[in-house]
Amino acid sequence: MCGVCGIYNNDKAAEKLYLGLFALQHRGQDNAGMAVWDGRENRIVKDRGLVFDIFKPEVLASLPGTAGIGHTRYPTAGDSSVANAQPHYADTRDGRMVIVSNGDVTNMLEQTRFLKSRGFTPYGSNDAEVIVASIACYYEECGDVAGAIARMMGAVRGSYSAILLFRGAMYVFRDPLGIRPLAMGYINGGWAFASESCAIETMGGSFQREVDPGELVAIVDGKLCSTRLERRDGCRHCVFEHIYFSRPDSVIFGESVSKVRFRLGEELAAEHPVQADFVLPVPDSSNNAALGYAGAAGLPYKLALIRSHYIGRTFIGSTQAIRDFAVKLKFNPVRAHLDGRTAAVVDDSIVRGTTSKKIMRMLRDFGAAGLHLRISSPPIKFPCYYGVDTPRQQELIASYKSPAQIKDFVGVDSLGYLSLDGLKRCLARPGDYCYACLDGDYPIAPPAVK
Ligand code: SF4
Repeated sequence: MCGVCGIYNNDKAAEKLYLGLFALQHRGQDNAGMAVWDGRENRIVKDRGLVFDIFKPEVLASLPGTAGIGHTRYPTAGDSSVANAQPHYADTRDGRMVIVSNGDVTNMLEQTRFLKSRGFTPYGSNDAEVIVASIACYYEECGDVAGAIARMMGAVRGSYSAILLFRGAMYVFRDPLGIRPLAMGYINGGWAFASESCAIETMGGSFQREVDPGELVAIVDGKLCSTRLERRDGCRHCVFEHIYFSRPDSVIFGESVSKVRFRLGEELAAEHPVQADFVLPVPDSSNNAALGYAGAAGLPYKLALIRSHYIGRTFIGSTQAIRDFAVKLKFNPVRAHLDGRTAAVVDDSIVRGTTSKKIMRMLRDFGAAGLHLRISSPPIKFPCYYGVDTPRQQELIASYKSPAQIKDFVGVDSLGYLSLDGLKRCLARPGDYCYACLDGDYPIAPPAVK
């Protein structure tokens, strides 16, 4: 889970990147950074913390230039130290390459071993560093950036949606299965790129299309050129971008996130109807699914759980202690809606089960007479190796408890998960997706150790 953005040919590159990163803050809250080409070199600023805290006006003023890249980070490989924050860089005989990437490399160990044999010494433990070091290494051999990226695609396995800046030129590319999203658009005679279309719009641009899986979009001396470097049979977009991660105002993998979530709720209502007084979303990522559920079930929709927006997602918390504390800070129920009533509670997923249990306890403490939990995804039983920090398999509650046992654990009167077939019915092109954390069918071999 990270957010990337890039801007080319804009005289306020750093300010635009700030807006883009702000719109992508939900994808990572541990680190943020940007690099801007000032005509001579890439200036990099990165730190721990939120975009708002790092990029004060004086910092933005120290980043003049017309092309730049930015990143918000949630660590899935390497810790949250500044050494692992992005952009990452690698030096070549012709200057420094800088990169931002969203995804996880699954053959980090082998590729790092190869790079070390060529004299590269990693300064961190992040997969984007391995990607840029690989490109730099191949560039030294072939002298051509596009050729070096093509060789990297042949050698590095896993997911990456990446933007590389080198000598004022921008290279935007996506792994051959297109696991993570990457959008492109126009902005004032230049180009903008971002993990999600909402960030392009926030920068003031208009969304044009997504960078295709295996495609390289290169902008050199103001000219844009697209090449398909790798072509595979089909793609494997992360289905959880639609269920949970992406913002509902984004278009991801060709579909409106908001509309897909609404359909998930409708399908869930058809599969798991319930007798309740009203439908209650666990805000914010379940709001649209709950709306769909309420519409299909003919039940009122009530915001009986209020979320504080001054704290991040509990999923984005590094330890159980932080997550425990965060749930209390994050949610507060509305007694006036709950008192003596039965709610159909719609949530997008259950990971460890501990957050759901605390929320259900809170709702009962505020007077709920009955709670029926409806989940707009199938049970998560397997870890993700492609850029989402799901816990190890033994921490995923659905990997060792049945739905009936989970119902008892979280403390509800009934529990219904959307089926995998139901999920697929809600997608325009269900064959284009990765469902590995749901069915264990990994499109790329996982690393030996998670
Ligand atoms: S394993 Fe799950 S979270 Fe990871 S890419 Fe596939 S669908 Fe997404």
